[in-house]
Amino acid sequence: MKDETKCLHAGYTPKNGEPRVLPIVQSTTYVFDSTKDVGDVFDDPSKALIYSRFENPTVMAVEEKIAALENGKAAMCTSAGQAASLISVLNLCNSGDSFVAASQIYGGTINLFAVTLKKLGIECIFVDADAPLEEIKKAFKPNTKCAFGETVANPALSVLDIEKWANAAHSFGVPLIVDNTFATPINCKPINYGADIVVHSTSKYMDGHALQVGGVIVDSGKFNWENGKFPDFTTPDESYHGTIYTKAYKELAYIMKARMQLMRDFGAYPSANSAFLLNIGLETLAIRMDRYAENALKVAEYFKNSDKIEAVRFPGLKGDKYYDLAKKYLRKPSGVISIDIKGGKENAVKFMDNLKLASNEVHVADIRTCVLHPASATHRQLTDEQLIAAGINPGLVRFSVGLENTEDIISDIENALAKI
Ligand SMILES: *Cc1c(COP(=O)(O)O)cnc(C)c1O
Repeated sequence: MKDETKCLHAGYTPKNGEPRVLPIVQSTTYVFDSTKDVGDVFDDPSKALIYSRFENPTVMAVEEKIAALENGKAAMCTSAGQAASLISVLNLCNSGDSFVAASQIYGGTINLFAVTLKKLGIECIFVDADAPLEEIKKAFKPNTKCAFGETVANPALSVLDIEKWANAAHSFGVPLIVDNTFATPINCKPINYGADIVVHSTSKYMDGHALQVGGVIVDSGKFNWENGKFPDFTTPDESYHGTIYTKAYKELAYIMKARMQLMRDFGAYPSANSAFLLNIGLETLAIRMDRYAENALKVAEYFKNSDKIEAVRFPGLKGDKYYDLAKKYLRKPSGVISIDIKGGKENAVKFMDNLKLASNEVHVADIRTCVLHPASATHRQLTDEQLIAAGINPGLVRFSVGLENTEDIISDIENALAKI
C-alpha cells in the first residue's frame, strides 16, 4: 500500500459483519478460561492480551498503522512524545552509560536528556548536528549506547543528515534514534536512511487537531543486538521470568523489551479513546501534509519579502541553510516556519500579540495556525548557551502554518507586522 492508503487502511481490516470504523475497546483487562491460559500468555504475549497498562486492541491497531507508515517492524504508543523519547533511550541505557544527541533538538527533550537522565546516572553528550562525521564520532565513548537526533528540529528547523548520523552510530555498534515529529512519515521515513528506532510526538501533525497528547516508538527490527554491546537483550531478564529478548522475539527484541519491561513498569500507555482520536488524525495525515507544505511555502515567501523580518528559516525555501538536506531527506517541508523579527524579543512579542487569526499557544503543527515564542515558553528553562546551541535567538518566533486559506493567514501577518 502507498502512504495515502496506509493512512486509511493499515492496522485495522474489519472482517465479515464487523464495524467499518476502528472500535474503541475501553477495557483495562481481558478474560481467560483458566489459570493455565493466563500463565501461557505470560510465557508468550503474542497469544493474547494481558492488561491495558501496556497493550490494548485499539491502541495496537494504531501502532500497526504507524509502523506501516514508517516502514518499521512494530511500534508502541506512549502517553506523550516525552514518554516515547524517555523509553526509547532507557530501553538501551542503564546508569553509568552515555549516549550522543544532536544539540538541535526539542527543548523538552534537552531538559529530559541533560537534567533528568543525568539524575539517573545516564550522561547525554550533545554535539552540533551539522558537525563533520569525524567530529561526531569523537563524542562516542565505550559506554555510549545510542545516538539521537531530530529529522527537522523544533524550532531550529535544521534538517538532520540522517545517513551521516547513522554512519557514526553504526561505526560504534549502537543504534540511531530519530525523532521524526515534524517531518512525519509522509515527508520522511528515517528507517530508509539507516535510522534504527523512530520516535514521535503524535500530539503534533499525526493527531493534527490538538485533541490529545501522545507519542510512539517505532522499531525498524534491523539492528543487531547480539554484537556484545547489549547484554540486557541477550541475557535473561530476571523481572520477566528469565526471558532473553533476542531469543524470544528475534527482530522484535527492542520493542518487546520496551513493552514487556519498561511499559509494564511505567504504564505510560495511552487510553483506547486517545488512540481512537489519533487514528482519525492519521486517516488524513497524507493529504494534510501536502496542504501544510503548500500553505507554508506561500507564508515563508511573504516573510522573506518583508522588511520587518531579519531572517526566515524554512527548509523548503531556496537559499535556506538546510535546503539541500531537505531536498535529499524530505518529500516536502512541513508547515512550521521560524522567523527572527527585526528588533529582537520586544518586536517579536508585539507581533505575536497583534495577531488575531493565529493563536498564541503552547502547541505546534495544529490544523489551525498558531505561534509561540520559544525563548519565553517551551525553551524558557534553557541557558543562553543552550538556546544558541539549539538554534534559537531571543527574537525567534515559531510560526506554525495551519490549513486556513493563505490569504487570511497572510493578511493577519500583514496587520500584526504593521504594528511594529
Ligand atoms: C512536542 C515535541 C515533543 C514532545 O512531545 P509531547 O507529546 O508534547 O510530550 C518531542 N519532540 C518534538 C520534536 C516535539 O515537537
